[in-house]
Amino acid sequence: DQLIVTLDGPAGSGKSSVARFLAKRLGLEFLDTGAMYRGLTAKALHRGINPATESHAVIELARNTPMRFDWNEDPPRLYVGKLDVTDRIRDRDVTGSTSEVACLAAVRQVLVETQRRIGKEHPKLVTEGRDQGSVVFPQANVKFFLDATPTIRAKRRVLQLQEAGKRADLEQIRRDIIERDRRDSTRKEGPLICPDDAIRVDTSGMNREQVISHLENLVRE
Ligand code: C5P
Repeated sequence: DQLIVTLDGPAGSGKSSVARFLAKRLGLEFLDTGAMYRGLTAKALHRGINPATESHAVIELARNTPMRFDWNEDPPRLYVGKLDVTDRIRDRDVTGSTSEVACLAAVRQVLVETQRRIGKEHPKLVTEGRDQGSVVFPQANVKFFLDATPTIRAKRRVLQLQEAGKRADLEQIRRDIIERDRRDSTRKEGPLICPDDAIRVDTSGMNREQVISHLENLVRE
C-alpha cells in the first residue's frame, strides 16, 4: 500500500518547511531531494572539485558515493559517503554550485534511482523537489506544485537563513533566486515543470500554517 505525495516548485516557494510539517501531520515520512543535490555538491567542494569545470569528477563522485539520510534525527541528517553534510548544504557557495551539479544528466540518473529506491523502502512518503511528480514518481497519489512571487520567496529564504543563525542580504538573495529560476526552467536536464495532473498552489498570500492545512485537506479528501 503506497501513499506518495509529491511537492514540486521553485526555490523559496515554501516547499521545504511545508513538506516537512505536512508529512508529520499525515504521519508520512519526508524526503528532501534538494538536500541530495546540495549534499553531493558539498561533498564535491569538500574534495576540492570545481563543479563548473570538472563535471566528470562530479559524475564519478555521484556514482561511487552512497548517500543516506538518518531519519532518527529531526531534521534528518544527510551523509554523503562518511561525510555529514547537513550543516553545509544551505551555505551560499554550496547553493550557488548546486545548479551546476543538478544539470548533469548522469548525476540526475543516479539521484533519481536513489530516490525511487527510498520510495520503495518508505512507500508512505511526502517527497519534495523539482521533478518528483513529473519524473521520479509519476504514479504518485497526490501531486502539488507550489509557487510564489520572487520577492516573497526571497523574504522566506532570508528568514530561513536567520533561523539557522546565518546572515542574509534580501536583495542579493532575490537576484540569486531569479537567476536560479532562469537556469532551472531553461536547463535541458530535469527542468522545473508543473505536471498536468498536479494541483497548483500560489502561496504568495498565505502563511506556512495556511499552506499546510490547505494541502492536508486536499490529501485527506
Ligand atoms: O529545493 P532546493 O533549493 O534545496 O534545491 C537546490 C537545487 O537542487 C535547485 O536549484 C535545483 O537546481 C536542484 N534540484 C533538482 N531536482 C530536485 C531537487 C533540487 O534539480 N528534485
